[in-house]
Amino acid sequence: MEDRIERIKQHLHSHNYKLTPQREATVRVLLEHEDDHLSAEDVYLLVKEKAPEIGLATVYRTLELLSDLKIIHKLNFGDGVARYEFREEGAERHHHHLICVQCGAVDEIMEDLLQNVEHKVEEDFQFKILDHRLIFHGICHRCQQENNQPLPEAEQTKPAKAKG
Ligand SMILES: [Zn+2]
Ligand SMILES: [Zn+2]
Repeated sequence: MEDRIERIKQHLHSHNYKLTPQREATVRVLLEHEDDHLSAEDVYLLVKEKAPEIGLATVYRTLELLSDLKIIHKLNFGDGVARYEFREEGAERHHHHLICVQCGAVDEIMEDLLQNVEHKVEEDFQFKILDHRLIFHGICHRCQQENNQPLPEAEQTKPAKAKG
């Protein structure tokens, strides 16, 4: 964790930005929730626990700065709320998102499924691809399981034992 904070600090310095205490608190929250896809408001609520004096606008500006510097990745899942996640250091982290339309869960496929598609697009359109986004909308396995379970009410409507 400290190593990564230090690297982010260097990264900011190389762009003439300082890792202020507020920025550091924001970065720590993002690192602690690396597997999540937090909205600015989620981040704000978590940062507030560490730095109660921080304002939403500061958190928002920090997130914008970090995503401008490509330290974090800004995601749009089509619900009008921007979400943020860390990029894996070094290599571009290719993964795809599965969004459940029922419970809103975001799962990830940690595999690049689009390599062949990219090659084809590059060849057919003479287009140098730098990145891509792929989002699947559907119903997650948890919700499918829940949907298939008999409703508790159905249990209760079973004919009760006749009383003697
Ligand atoms: Zn679901
Ligand atoms: Zn993700």
